[in-house]
Amino acid sequence: MSDNINNNNNNNENNDGTTEICFVCRRPSTSAGDMFHMPNGVSICQDCLRKTMDQVSSMDFSNLFINGAAFNPVQNVRKEKENIEISESDKVTGEEKKPEDGKEPKESGPSISFLNLSDLMGGFGPQMGRSRVKKSSKEDLKKEFDFSKVEKPHKVKEMLDKYVVGQEQAKKAISVAVYNHYKRVQADIEDDNDVELEKSNILLLGPTGCGKTYLVKTLAKLLNVPLAIADATSLTEAGYIGDDIESVVSKLLAAADNDVNRAERGIIFVDEIDKIAKKKETRSRDVSGESVQQGMLKLLEGSEIEVPVGANSKNAMVPMVTVNTKDILFICGGAFPDLDEIIRKRLSKETSIGFNAELKDRWDKEKNIFKKVTADDIREFGMIPEFIGRLPVICPMEGLTEDMMVRILKEPKNAIVKQYEKMLSMDGVQLKFTDEAMHAIAKKAMEKDTGARALRSVIEEFMLDIMFEVPKDDNIGRVTITEEYIKGKGGPVIDLKGVLALEDTISLPKPEISATSG
Ligand code: ADP
Repeated sequence: MSDNINNNNNNNENNDGTTEICFVCRRPSTSAGDMFHMPNGVSICQDCLRKTMDQVSSMDFSNLFINGAAFNPVQNVRKEKENIEISESDKVTGEEKKPEDGKEPKESGPSISFLNLSDLMGGFGPQMGRSRVKKSSKEDLKKEFDFSKVEKPHKVKEMLDKYVVGQEQAKKAISVAVYNHYKRVQADIEDDNDVELEKSNILLLGPTGCGKTYLVKTLAKLLNVPLAIADATSLTEAGYIGDDIESVVSKLLAAADNDVNRAERGIIFVDEIDKIAKKKETRSRDVSGESVQQGMLKLLEGSEIEVPVGANSKNAMVPMVTVNTKDILFICGGAFPDLDEIIRKRLSKETSIGFNAELKDRWDKEKNIFKKVTADDIREFGMIPEFIGRLPVICPMEGLTEDMMVRILKEPKNAIVKQYEKMLSMDGVQLKFTDEAMHAIAKKAMEKDTGARALRSVIEEFMLDIMFEVPKDDNIGRVTITEEYIKGKGGPVIDLKGVLALEDTISLPKPEISATSG
């Protein structure tokens, strides 16, 4: 097949200076690379051909019919051969003729040369996809979805408390929003149209690393619903370079193992939503800002979207399925830099009028100014009113303080400190962190300005030597991480097993053995 590759010259141009276009993805050979030449002057790039091969090899041909006949590649090849024999030598009787030696004709190996590309693309492509995805009726849904099993808001918050430190207001708001969301799903299943319940999509605002993604991930895990996380910065208006907006739904479908019903009740988290704010200067077409907001409106509201199964982008080779987004919970998150200035300016303007004039600069000192955010501030930031209107639950999240960082280090169920303790306990060694050491770690992490995300990198820096040295010596019974060690002014305190055993029987003053590890 490599003979078919167009290798005319290095920059993939033909000798006459023209560029070939891939029949499927429409990319020119200058960006798509070498082309394969198919019959009838069709050229296909390597990517699309590979996708086609993957698609063909994963197809279930057993349920397919072409021109009313069951589609079986091997049999069809055989029949084709036999038909030729019948038509040429046995036209009178029309009987199927067995080969002379009486044996069944030898099966030729699976071959795709007889596949008609245009059939694949237009005719039965979509149906093939549908046959592989699950979609059940409303009756089935009633059986599958049991509202009584949906956790009440206080229970959801209790579960979140085990993982997410602080952010009380956001956890409360998200627990209620999720509960209301599933009430709405239930009303929809029961066709209860008395009062139409609106979608409670959520907007999370908070500085980077304060736990927005973590909160949503934990929520999805606890509720056991599929979750898709998308980055708004990679989204562009359909037809432009980047992911098209509907690709977020196909991600969710993939997360739900192609089960459309599960996907239709899942959660989509769109991070960095502030990056699609309206551009202030719009001399060029704003394909990744306002247009993306416009494009997301119908998803947020609820509409039927045709999404490719098992791929991110729509193309002729990929089967499609319809997903309704009306019961998908959308959570958008963003750091919204400079939004605090907008809020401060508004609040100062309000307080500079009348009685409260003297409180004007009070807002300059307010740390958690996001708590005062209104939809108007977000509109001022650059989000269009229709977009904000479809995210009725606005949850501001707090920036992390040193104390919260220390709690994040040790309290959550999967806290980093607990993970290290567990790892060393497998070597028979106790690991301890003094309070001062924890605060020193939190301080170092705060300097990096990336929120709790920095904690792991800071702690890993110190733990590397310990994780390397400790397993060497079977006598070590306890390692204590001190503030001095974190600040680079000393080593960790190492207690030997023998001393610990003695300590248990008689209370001795603790010997301090400093180890310069590394
Ligand atoms: P962002 O707000 O930028 O989405 P993330 O949710 O990705 O931040 O947080 C990064 C990491 O920091 C998480 O994986 C989590 O381990 C930790 N983290 C952040 N905030 C919290 C919190 N409030 N409680 C517990 N862990 C947190």
